[in-house]
Amino acid sequence: MKVLKFGGTSVGSAERMQNVVNLINDGETKIVVLSAMSGTTNSLIEFTNYLRNGNVNGACEHSTFLQTKYMQTISELYKTQEGKAAATAKVNEVFAHLRDLAQQKLSDDLEKEIVAQGEIISTNMVTFFMQEQGIDVKLLNALDFMRLAVNGEPDLEYIREHLLPLLDADKEGRIYITQGFICMNHEGSYDNLQRGGSDYTATLIGSAVNAEEVQIWTDIDGVHNNDPRVVEGTSPVRNLHFEESAELAYFGAKILHPTCILPAKLTGTPVRLLNTMDPKAEGTRIDNNLTRPGEIKAIAAKENITAIKIKSGRMLLAYGFLRKVFEIFENYKTSIDMVCTSEVGVSVSIDDDRRLDEIVAELQKIGTITVDRNMCIICVVGDLDWENVGFEARAMEAMKDIPVRMVSYGGSNYNISFLVREEDKVKALRSLSASIFGTNK
Ligand code: ADP
Ligand code: ASP
Ligand code: MG
Repeated sequence: MKVLKFGGTSVGSAERMQNVVNLINDGETKIVVLSAMSGTTNSLIEFTNYLRNGNVNGACEHSTFLQTKYMQTISELYKTQEGKAAATAKVNEVFAHLRDLAQQKLSDDLEKEIVAQGEIISTNMVTFFMQEQGIDVKLLNALDFMRLAVNGEPDLEYIREHLLPLLDADKEGRIYITQGFICMNHEGSYDNLQRGGSDYTATLIGSAVNAEEVQIWTDIDGVHNNDPRVVEGTSPVRNLHFEESAELAYFGAKILHPTCILPAKLTGTPVRLLNTMDPKAEGTRIDNNLTRPGEIKAIAAKENITAIKIKSGRMLLAYGFLRKVFEIFENYKTSIDMVCTSEVGVSVSIDDDRRLDEIVAELQKIGTITVDRNMCIICVVGDLDWENVGFEARAMEAMKDIPVRMVSYGGSNYNISFLVREEDKVKALRSLSASIFGTNK
């Protein structure tokens, strides 16, 4: 069985939804994971922002605007009165529920319940549309099986145990639809897999059902070798190793959720990225094979990075200094991305600076601290095994006119990272692309 995930852009209009249904209706049993229609999750977050500011009326007005957009889509999508009526009733029910929720005291659980409604609407709409066409479809409620364990990570055992009984073995050709992104936490309250998390839902389901393949359908022809919004002449990467794709996802190739590749890697389930606009295109296949050893595959960037340098005479020839530094970050639940050390200092980078002031105050007790904000990690990904020669020189050469704050290489076989100023991001991406892939600067 295959698991197919369609992102917000792929279900973003009546026409796109129709397109998705044409794509999935090929007589094969499959599980289809859907995101909310594009813009909806942002809109629901805005709804919670109104509530946080005590503006219940503003929230309700905002939801009416969104509801009108859904009504428009319904009028375009359904052919029959029954289909229209079923979808209208569901959308009205969800928006009435949202307005009820708006009257309650805002809590973490409530916020997550609100944000979950986007996927609930989109999956219901597509299911009604398929029923209208006589397709054998069953809507699975993700909240019945997608669950986080006590540690906040998806509980694959629970998912498997609760999902498998929902799949009817005797219904050949049936299409199962379910919501991406949304789940319950270990206490049975609403939760989610973070922004962009529908990809993660798909690979978790893929591992749970031992799928032959997980397909992530989006609006572009696979993972590109650089961000197509910044660099001209990028091209799709045909094959990525799980490790390469994990590095890319962490470092900002936004096409994949950062952790979605982990479950697939665990069970060896191949993941393919495909294009809804061009279904015949090859896309990107992610698996355990290194097709061409020594090849640089892609470049990605991650913004909003803060670099912190800790310099201390006490570090020289001392043991335990790094532990003290890392412990401070751990105490403030702040994870470190890049690390570079010299004999008398260490530089680290973080992307979550909410506890920065407290961290710096603690670090000042052990050394002299310098903080650089608005930085950007540029990461080059490929089979960069240290015994392959020459690629560091090519990457360095491309950065020759750009001030580089940190360089990190050797942490894994798949990544070399540079920390530069955000304002130099575009220049760095273009220059690396030109020197590595031969695109125009
Ligand atoms: P979806 O709504 O299907 O989940 P996303 O918006 O999450 O889609 O991701 C697709 C977008 O990611 C593309 O439209 C593209 O502009 C952008 N993107 C950023 N970096 C890359 C990259 N390296 N390769 C391909 N697409 C990228
Ligand atoms: N709808 C959610 C978001 O916009 C999840 C997803 O699309 O993957 O982040
Ligand atoms: Mg996405």
